[in-house]
Amino acid sequence: MSFASLGLSDELVRAVTERGYTVPTPIQLQAIPAVLSGGDLLAGAQTGTGKTAGFVLPILHRLINTPAKQTAEGRMPIRALILTPTRELAAQVEESVRDYGKYVKLNSMMMFGGVNINPQIQKLRGRVDILVATPGRLLDHAQQKTVDLSKVEILVLDEADRMLDMGFIRDIKRVMALIPKQRQTLLFSATFSDEIKTLADSLLNKPTTIEVARRNQTAELITQKVYAVDRERKRELLTHLIKEHNWFQVLVFTRTKHAANRLAEQLDKDGIKSMAIHGNKSQAARTRALKEFKDGSLQVLVATDIAARGIDISELPHVVNFELPNVAEDYVHRIGRTGRAGSEGEATSLVCVDEDKLLSAIERLTKTQMPAVILPGFEPDPRIKAEPILNGSQRGNQPRSGGQARGGAGKPAGAGGARAGTKPAAPRGGPAVHRSGGRNR
Ligand code: AMP
Repeated sequence: MSFASLGLSDELVRAVTERGYTVPTPIQLQAIPAVLSGGDLLAGAQTGTGKTAGFVLPILHRLINTPAKQTAEGRMPIRALILTPTRELAAQVEESVRDYGKYVKLNSMMMFGGVNINPQIQKLRGRVDILVATPGRLLDHAQQKTVDLSKVEILVLDEADRMLDMGFIRDIKRVMALIPKQRQTLLFSATFSDEIKTLADSLLNKPTTIEVARRNQTAELITQKVYAVDRERKRELLTHLIKEHNWFQVLVFTRTKHAANRLAEQLDKDGIKSMAIHGNKSQAARTRALKEFKDGSLQVLVATDIAARGIDISELPHVVNFELPNVAEDYVHRIGRTGRAGSEGEATSLVCVDEDKLLSAIERLTKTQMPAVILPGFEPDPRIKAEPILNGSQRGNQPRSGGQARGGAGKPAGAGGARAGTKPAAPRGGPAVHRSGGRNR
């Protein structure tokens, strides 16, 4: 099956082909015809599946093949609105719009907070057919009446689960009040929680529902490794692994911004060029870090979950969980950064005695046993007891569905846990392989 046979215009097929894509991915095979038909869509797909082209291409096709309705002032209106949870994702989606749309006459714009609003106001005075925006800044513009959404024909909620996690539900509802009820709505989400289903029920009209294999079900492309190690020796082990295996383009996750900064500094001192990326960094610093990481001049990027969300780096070879996430679903998102678009990747987790419950929750969610390996020289000290993981969540204590996967921000994650004590655990998968949190603690 080719892109042309999906019914896309020649100009779009040309742009896609130039980018080197010949065969549509499974999500594209299903999403493109569904969007071209004009109906609503509920799609379960995460980053790395090719979902962006799955909605951008048919949107471009529809816009060039139907005439625009002018606004009350007789101007060309914004016809498609794509909402994303983060600035990085907005920038990447808009870049895809420009790239796939390079042979068609449509203008796009990205819009997010944390940067001066005036250039955005200026740009909105010109023609914008497709707007890619984060909800907060979009509402700022709406309040100042610098954006007119009254003629939006197509709405996309990209990474809707993450938008809910980040507390954007009210903002989304406010945006809904500004756009026509008669529209095509596409909702993309990596997970289908009850919250997402409720949102989908309220926004979508008889949607086509599609779901492609999640990363955790395509594990053959991602090698997952867990190392049991003491809390205070994680940095030393990470430096060892990076140097020993000569890893490049390593995306490392921490739970907090503070931990991200500290780790990046320490790795730098160890001679491994690193930068941290998180919500407190300026847009310029984030863009720079991302650029250097992409072009290979930065060896390690240390990120929090929210900052990393939406980073589009294809064929990323290494993802490291320096700390396990408090929410098991985030593990799936994190490792989805590697082994993308058909290339192999490695996801490594450094797990200390505090994190046993978090690991169990991840194993339950991914339906995978992840036995911990102990590296000689890094044997965990059995006298070290589990400590509570405090202030671990960047989301504070926002409720989230799929609660069984929650490690519990501020709760003693490992303390009192059955596996944190002295009870021996059955070794699995070979002599050097032990269950995390077993007798070696
Ligand atoms: P996405 O899930 O949209 O973030 O895309 C993941 C990666 O796959 C991006 O780097 C895309 O450029 C790439 N990609 C998208 N569609 C295709 C395709 N049909 N063939 C090969 N790579 C693709």
